Amino acid sequence: MIAYKASTQLREKTLSILVPVYNESCVIDTFMTRLQQVIENLPCKTEVVFVDDGSKDDTCLKIERVSSLGDSKRLIKLSRNFGKEAALCAGLESVKGDAVIILDADLQDPPELIPKMLTCWQSGVDVVNMRRTKREGETWFKKFSAKCFYRILNWVSDTHIPENVGDFRLIGRCVIDVINAMPEKNLYMKGILSWPGFRTQTLFFDRDARAQG
Ligand code: UDP
Ligand code: MG
Repeated sequence: MIAYKASTQLREKTLSILVPVYNESCVIDTFMTRLQQVIENLPCKTEVVFVDDGSKDDTCLKIERVSSLGDSKRLIKLSRNFGKEAALCAGLESVKGDAVIILDADLQDPPELIPKMLTCWQSGVDVVNMRRTKREGETWFKKFSAKCFYRILNWVSDTHIPENVGDFRLIGRCVIDVINAMPEKNLYMKGILSWPGFRTQTLFFDRDARAQG
């Protein structure tokens, strides 16, 4: 009875999937195919919002060509390359869902984990962090410098910013609204996403190397 009630509620919810893209021509078709397969089997409504961060290749053309963009797929084009953080800010202001999942286009964040994230959200949390257990394709220097960075950051920061949690996460509407209401313009997204608090759960996943590009 409880399971039935939960799935009925989920059917009425909309999940937004926010994808920042910059020069992802070589991987975007595979990404969209894999994402579509996942979306078709989700028990809720979805919208996919791509934010093109000033790509100079044909990434936008490919996004527009696939599945005539309707209400459930939108493309926001930034006038130039502003960086991923700015692309995410623009996207978060535009998403209409009850929750959003931020997903990289290079398949380092596997779209196949979306159902697990949804289930976790349905258990009553507002944020689902995705923590990497492996960082494939990264040099020892990147791993080492990341470790040092988080040590120093958490030393100076009042808010704990979890290590090995990137932008790949699910954020509920209450958190999206708090972030959008912030006056800051140059956001450090991982810090901002951690700052509002709320009920949070962390899932673990192996992060593959970038698919291509
Ligand atoms: N991206 C973006 N603007 C940029 C750089 C990257 O929107 O200036 C997008 C990129 O297309 C990808 C995501 O942000 O979908 C993550 O980028 P990348 O793979 O370069 O980052 P990393 O995996 O090294 O954190
Ligand atoms: Mg990447």
